[in-house]
Amino acid sequence: MLGSMMNIPLNIADILKYAAEIHPTGEIVSVRTEGDIHRTTYRETLGRVSQLAHALRGQGVEIGDRIATLAWNGYRHFELYYAISGSGAVCHTINPRLSAEQMTYIVTHAEDTMLFVDTTFVPLVAALRAQWPAGLKVVVMTGRAHMPEGDYLCYEDLLEGQPESFDWPVLDENTASGLCYTSGTTGNPKGTLYSHRSTVLHAFMEAVGLPDVLQPGRAILPVVPLFHVNAWGLPYAAPLTGASLVFPGGALDGESLFKLMESESVYSAWGVPTVWLGLQGEIAKQGRLPKGLADVVVGGSAAPASMIRFFEENDVNVCHAWGMTEMSPIGTTGNLPPHLEHLPLDEKLKIKAKQGRRTCLVELKILDEDGQRLPHDGVAAGELFVRGPAITAGYFKNDEANQNAFDSEGWFGTGDVATIDANGYLNITDRAKDLIKSGGEWISSLDLENTVMAHPKVANCAVIAIAHPKWDERPLLVVVPSPDGKPEVSELMGMLDEHFAKWQLPDDVVFVDELPLTATGKVSKLSLRKQFADYKLP
Ligand code: ADP
Repeated sequence: MLGSMMNIPLNIADILKYAAEIHPTGEIVSVRTEGDIHRTTYRETLGRVSQLAHALRGQGVEIGDRIATLAWNGYRHFELYYAISGSGAVCHTINPRLSAEQMTYIVTHAEDTMLFVDTTFVPLVAALRAQWPAGLKVVVMTGRAHMPEGDYLCYEDLLEGQPESFDWPVLDENTASGLCYTSGTTGNPKGTLYSHRSTVLHAFMEAVGLPDVLQPGRAILPVVPLFHVNAWGLPYAAPLTGASLVFPGGALDGESLFKLMESESVYSAWGVPTVWLGLQGEIAKQGRLPKGLADVVVGGSAAPASMIRFFEENDVNVCHAWGMTEMSPIGTTGNLPPHLEHLPLDEKLKIKAKQGRRTCLVELKILDEDGQRLPHDGVAAGELFVRGPAITAGYFKNDEANQNAFDSEGWFGTGDVATIDANGYLNITDRAKDLIKSGGEWISSLDLENTVMAHPKVANCAVIAIAHPKWDERPLLVVVPSPDGKPEVSELMGMLDEHFAKWQLPDDVVFVDELPLTATGKVSKLSLRKQFADYKLP
């Protein structure tokens, strides 16, 4: 027997309509490409989003069309999120840090019909446009005064004179709403096609997972980009809960972020560890934290234990989160439950170094090589599989990738290797492809890196596998020294010696000026392995 409740579909536009009515003064503050700071509210934004939806209609955009963006974090990008999806089209965010070849693949594969770009990326578009589908309309996200020469439409012109209300269609909740391609460290990028249902549910899941931060009046700074993984869901969860958004534009260095956090009293800032390494440098230079900063959400790659300690010792709560593009993206969040808050700092930090516990409506399981479930005892490590209503059921137009992405029960294989403890804390030990297999035993590169990062003269580091005639693979430690000088190799090995068995220790240490980063700001182990492909271990 079915329940007899109203079957109203979950639609993304309803989040902004709710915010405009219930959190009308919730702010969106943006550092603009024009060079100034722009301020608006959720109420005003609904008006402009309606104008933009009319403009899209006027351009002939229909339900299901893919409309791309190539832009920093800012209010116009936020407007596009709602106007495109709300009117039934698909908001396809493109990561500008992808290679030209990957970008061309994505635009062609998605069959984008319109592209909205920040002025910063106009030269990039001009260089690649000839290779992109003919007829692609390009809109530059600025006013008339800043328009470049060429065949471009002007964003502000499109909005001008349009009505400030829109008759939002009631869409089937499974209608596609967004599209995001993973950076594709191997092969072509793969697209995750979100739906209205998955997006709205994810916003609620996030609100439940991060209740201390997602509150009316709290200012949140997403350094994590709108152009990848939906800025970790913040464009939906923030208006839903009334939290304000502070968009940093393109200046993501420690100094600019510090200044913005302070001037906008940012309560919580979200980003990948490389961003926080930059901020830590600025904090060290100034000898203080940005005023008002109370919380940092770190994810995308493992937060080093030393980074967590740094913030926590300065009274900034660290929430270590884990997720994937394919999961909308949040899978786990790492705040401590009240019954663990009394623990001594060192104990708490050990827990916080793990990636947290599952979000509501995300199920986790770890499997051994034979596909058998492993116990959640914090010891057994296996491949992590996930299931939930905000998790992909198949990549966009990619049968080949879909063949290997799911297990026989339909769970999605993350490619991460992890343990789960009795309290439900997930600990990612490695990406399966980054694990080092030495003499038939696995060595976790993340564990080694985490230990080395605690050395004050290590700015960043990575451990990669080097082919070895006898052991198959052996670990190599690659270190970026801090500006204060180079650590001694003996000191680094001494630190590792305390925590690891002899056979797990790196065979060699090399120093480099910087580590290659992926398009999403993570250390690119793939590039590093290529760089050291011919390296001869001692
Ligand atoms: P891309 O590879 O394009 O950056 P994602 O942003 O979707 O794609 O990356 C997801 C992957 O990032 C996860 O599968 C995992 O390997 C890694 N990751 C995300 N968060 C963490 C974390 N807190 N600790 C360790 N690894 C993480």
